[in-house]
Amino acid sequence: MGKNILLLDDDKQFCKLMASVLEGRGHKVLQADSGEKGWETLNKENLDLVIVCGPLPDKTGVDWISDVREKGNDVRCVFVGQSQKDVQINKAKLENELGISLIVHKPVIPFVFGAQIEGQFAESAGAQAGKLKDFETMFLALVTKYARMLPTKLSDLSAAIQKAKLDPTNIDLVGEVRAQAHKIKGTGGSLGFRLVGEAMAFIEAAAVAMPTKSHEEQQISWAEIDRKLLEAQAAGEMEAREVAQVVAGKDDETTDEPAMARILVVDSDQEFLNLIEDLGRERLVEIVKALNVDEALNKACVLPLDAALVNVVSDAPEESFKLARQLRELPGYENLPLAFISGDAFIKDRVEAAHAGASLYLDKPLQSDSLETAVQHLVAIRQGGRPRVLITDDDEFFANTVALTLRNEGMIVRTLLDPTKILDVMQDFPPDMLLLDVMMPGITGFEVCRMLRQVPRWQDLPIIFLTGQTGVDARVEAFRSGGDDYLPKPVVNEELLTRVKVRLDRSKLLKERSDKDTITGLLLRRAFSEHLSGMIAEAQRLKSSFSVCLLDVDHFKKVNDTYGHLAGDKVLAGLGQLLSRRFRVDDLRGRWGGEEFILAFRREAKETMHAAVLRVLDEFSEMTFVSDEGKEFHVSFSGGLASFPEDGESVYELLQTADRRLYEAKRAGRRRIVLDDPDPAVVT
Ligand code: GH3
Ligand code: MG
Ligand code: MG
Repeated sequence: MGKNILLLDDDKQFCKLMASVLEGRGHKVLQADSGEKGWETLNKENLDLVIVCGPLPDKTGVDWISDVREKGNDVRCVFVGQSQKDVQINKAKLENELGISLIVHKPVIPFVFGAQIEGQFAESAGAQAGKLKDFETMFLALVTKYARMLPTKLSDLSAAIQKAKLDPTNIDLVGEVRAQAHKIKGTGGSLGFRLVGEAMAFIEAAAVAMPTKSHEEQQISWAEIDRKLLEAQAAGEMEAREVAQVVAGKDDETTDEPAMARILVVDSDQEFLNLIEDLGRERLVEIVKALNVDEALNKACVLPLDAALVNVVSDAPEESFKLARQLRELPGYENLPLAFISGDAFIKDRVEAAHAGASLYLDKPLQSDSLETAVQHLVAIRQGGRPRVLITDDDEFFANTVALTLRNEGMIVRTLLDPTKILDVMQDFPPDMLLLDVMMPGITGFEVCRMLRQVPRWQDLPIIFLTGQTGVDARVEAFRSGGDDYLPKPVVNEELLTRVKVRLDRSKLLKERSDKDTITGLLLRRAFSEHLSGMIAEAQRLKSSFSVCLLDVDHFKKVNDTYGHLAGDKVLAGLGQLLSRRFRVDDLRGRWGGEEFILAFRREAKETMHAAVLRVLDEFSEMTFVSDEGKEFHVSFSGGLASFPEDGESVYELLQTADRRLYEAKRAGRRRIVLDDPDPAVVT
């Protein structure tokens, strides 16, 4: 039975949304945008319920309810706070003094909130409070189920569209498209699939208008419908995850989980895709499935990916290699880590795959642990290039919402609710940027910032304050404490993203400038050492190995003396370029100093690295350099190798071993790479 509900809020967007949800449930909805008007309506109408939102233009929501109670009116009220904090502060008063049984805060999920309000009419207020969690659980189950059904619904719609296109005069077929889009819009939209809902609204409207259009207009319209459908397919997967995160985000444990990665898997076998998806879920990796090349490219354009796994079909391997190259040509994907999977590939394909830039080659049937290693490997490569952002805010919901926004832009995000743990967390998750709340229990954001600026490592870290305090004093204090920027809450997503991105870009540029050597374009010693320490930590964690190689140009002093210092520089630049073009995206190359270079290969024993470096030595020896006087000459280098962990378990030990072997290579005649210590029986 329909009830009379008053929505008391000056947030037009929210009122519109909630009004449509409640009216959809058969209720009559009245609206008021100030306490004053709310009071008038309350006296005029026979209301069953008032939805009171946080601050009103003329008083707070809590004060409004207090006034109403003082005047002897005990109309049933529901309170919607502006934020989690708003609710925390007022909760005791609302529950105990004012008898409010349903207290939530924005952003609310319309479907859940609608159901909660329904519950207000059905049950006693006390029982209702305990039901809150149940609704969330139920909602999550619903969304999960719907997310699973959505691809089928969308492909049914796709079929209906194709049919209607082929028979443009048949009105019934267009009607079918309209009906299907309408249904998905309704259910999907209210379950939180906003983008899918919008795409469906577009298709529905286009289908309605179709019969009134000329043939040419219809062609355009169908093309637009196709595009919207693809958008909806891509958005559906993303939104399912988002909604699930918003609901599950209230769980304490999820906030500190490692960031999710997104991997595209292209395979024509639906069952294989499902299997990978299940495996991915266990590993907190989101799998984006594509059955064919078009779907793969389309999804890659919409969702930021961390890596791609492409199946190679034995009778048309070239297709897959082409797709790999196409993916790498998309903006932002130049360094997309790739792996190929194949049931029966020939060696020839493997060589091709390497050319297409594959970091890995996997055999089918896939063992679950080999997939796991592959995923870790691919993600590690990509995440090296993705910015890491730490959000410190005691308002969990706020932190999660901001995290979601940034993750969608491909950033790796960690949230921290307890600011006293910040140093430990930053040790474990060294961020490229910190978003810092100001008012937190026990310590203020300003104090945290001041403390961080005293740690050498964090002196240049970009720090942005996010806070509800907007006064001049707060702004001055933000900069005085060492902050870089300041964003007032409530944060507007667009503005947040722009500021975060601009800061990140700038600090990345500065970092590159200070990390890279200008002559060779390779990492400088300090930066390389940092990466190497990271590699040791990673290898220890994954119980894997890696190897390093120290290179030294042969007789370089003579090159300088004979052909001039400038020619010497050209040699260094040439070797730097050669090293950066060879090897995989995730291998490390650095200039160790003078004419010494250093390489590190992830997950490779020194034997493999030996073969790879020897090939480059051959190439380098064949490069012709020209002096200022036009004289041609050739140069070679020598190298020493060491593997982690057998040749050393610290940066120092590894380099000492590699250096010893480099010396041995020089002693033995140069132009060679040594991977073992000399036999003590031979050396006297
Ligand atoms: P070996 O084969 O034993 O390594 O002999 P070498 O001559 O290469 O070794 P040595 O260490 O005696 O000489 C290294 C020279 O490299 C000395 C130094 O002037 C030169 N060098 C170091 N940095 C640069 C640079 O940036 N540009 C140029 N042109 N020369 C450099
Ligand atoms: Mg030297
Ligand atoms: Mg030398």
